[in-house]
Amino acid sequence: MTTTTTKEPKVKALFEQLKEGVANIISSDDWKKILILQTKFHNYSFRNIMLIRMQRPTAKRVASYGLWKTLGRQVVRGAQSIKIIAPHTVKLEDKETGEEKEVLSFHQASVFDVTDTEGEELPRLNYDELAGDTKQLRQFYELAMSISPVPVKEKTIKDGSEGYYHTVEDYIAIKRGIGVHKKCKTLIHEIVHATLHRRDNKDAQALTASDMEIQAEGAAFVVLTYFGLDTSKYSFSYVAGWNSSNDIERIERAGDAIQKVSKKLIDQLEALMKSEEKPKANIA
Ligand SMILES: [Zn+2]
Repeated sequence: MTTTTTKEPKVKALFEQLKEGVANIISSDDWKKILILQTKFHNYSFRNIMLIRMQRPTAKRVASYGLWKTLGRQVVRGAQSIKIIAPHTVKLEDKETGEEKEVLSFHQASVFDVTDTEGEELPRLNYDELAGDTKQLRQFYELAMSISPVPVKEKTIKDGSEGYYHTVEDYIAIKRGIGVHKKCKTLIHEIVHATLHRRDNKDAQALTASDMEIQAEGAAFVVLTYFGLDTSKYSFSYVAGWNSSNDIERIERAGDAIQKVSKKLIDQLEALMKSEEKPKANIA
């Protein structure tokens, strides 16, 4: 394809732009407060993320009952807990030597999503909502739907999230009624989840929730901005919010995955755009 030579540097430049944007945020004063909060949350394993998403596909921030309490928030009455597997050590006596040794064991633990808690406002970065409804955005949304590896359904979603990838039923949900720019961004974000973070994907097993969100939103920024539909005012804050450290090492690590999946999606979208430009029939 003739565009390959110009595409790679452009994708790389967009990734650099993402890093720079996030670096600017994490040097701000607002960020310091967020970081203190971030360090309190547990970075769950792949297995637990899958357990959480199976039970609550829209889960945003989960923590134990006790942790929410120390953060000044209370789990609301009637909220349904999400079950995860937590490790603990048990002391066992070696029957032969009589020595005591520690063995790793697992138990079921309960966590709750932030949407099931109320109380003190948590510090958060300002997200500028993506607004806008143009012909180009509508066309992009249609094209993005046709490159999705799984079915896309528009649904009524009440807990504040704009979309999700359902890891068990294998479909993408997009919130009905949100702006078209937001729909486009959310759809590409979820397509990345449905491409890279499937339950059976062995490469994803070592990833944490932060890694997955950084990959999904980072690629959404690269792909949409590549086509002139800039999402930086939303994506930079989102990625920073999942960064959980004072440097951008985690984002650096996601770089390969972001650029690779972005290129793949851009290729698919461009191929569709080209085929649509072609005249349907050659009338001489
Ligand atoms: Zn996500």
